[in-house]
Amino acid sequence: QAKKQGKRRFQLFSPAMHTNVTRRLIMESNLRKGFQNQEFVVMYQPKFDLATGKVGAMEALVRWDRPDLGMVSPAEFIPLAEESGLIVPLGEWVLRQACLTTKELRNQGMEDLVVSINLSTRQLLWQHDLASMLAEILTECELPPSALDLELTESAVMHNVEGAIGTMDDLRQMGISLSLDDFGTGYSSLKYLKRFPIDVLKIDRSFVKGLPDDPSDVAIVISIISMARAMGLKVIAEGVETIDQLRFFLHNEVDEVQGFIFSRPLVKSRLAHALRESEDLARKILFGANQSN
Ligand code: C2E
Ligand code: MG
Ligand code: MG
Ligand code: MG
Repeated sequence: QAKKQGKRRFQLFSPAMHTNVTRRLIMESNLRKGFQNQEFVVMYQPKFDLATGKVGAMEALVRWDRPDLGMVSPAEFIPLAEESGLIVPLGEWVLRQACLTTKELRNQGMEDLVVSINLSTRQLLWQHDLASMLAEILTECELPPSALDLELTESAVMHNVEGAIGTMDDLRQMGISLSLDDFGTGYSSLKYLKRFPIDVLKIDRSFVKGLPDDPSDVAIVISIISMARAMGLKVIAEGVETIDQLRFFLHNEVDEVQGFIFSRPLVKSRLAHALRESEDLARKILFGANQSN
């Protein structure tokens, strides 16, 4: 027994572990260098209003464009950026880029365009100058606070409910809108949901995937929609890929959809053009082929 335990304890410091730590350190320093070398890019994925087919907002999604590896997904490096603290300067950079881009698009005729930006746990809970930083960027970019929507994950909010609610109140008081991202995946209880000062619920892609065939997903999504409606929240579905999923959301009256069916995340160059093209496609799919404008 003792031998067994001793062995197990030894495994805590196994060479494999050591390698993992080393690997992490290398990744972290690469991440920092990559940021200094301006290897990060922001892409934009539109959200479509189902009543009009129009792009009401777009979500900023960061990528790391490595010279050696190509595009690295934020799912890979955001957790690392969070741990190392790089998320603070990186997050500020994303905000500024996205706000500048949004101002340009508003100047090009998309006057009411809103930009959604993902906030990490660390930014929401521990970045004390978050509100003033946001105010500064909005002023700098000459955008009203209503042009900005912040996507918070349920798990970030649940990490420190009281703290999160305090910050959320401040942001909302400024006129910024708040979305609860990946809804249904982060253990938040309905008791808390009631207290979160939010405007939008985003149904997580993992529930959308099985629609319309999986009866559990159908049940979950329908109850999220009716709950959101009862609470006066807007509902968005993310990860909509198929026409059947789209039909489901039309039938069940979600406000907006986002997903590959209408558009993948888009690069910044010719964004105005690409957004209009995606709008044309959305309207064709939604209202029929002979409808123009
Ligand atoms: P998220 O905020 O839930 O973003 C949605 C993710 O789903 C994006 O992945 C998007 O490209 C992908 N997606 C959208 N439509 C579809 C679809 O129809 N099918 C499929 N299969 N995927 C779809 P992405 O860009 O890889 O981002 C992953 C996550 O990384 C995001 O999830 C978000 O939590 C985080 N993230 C991205 N950018 C930022 C950022 O600037 N700051 C922070 N803190 N997190 C970010
Ligand atoms: Mg998001
Ligand atoms: Mg999401
Ligand atoms: Mg998600």
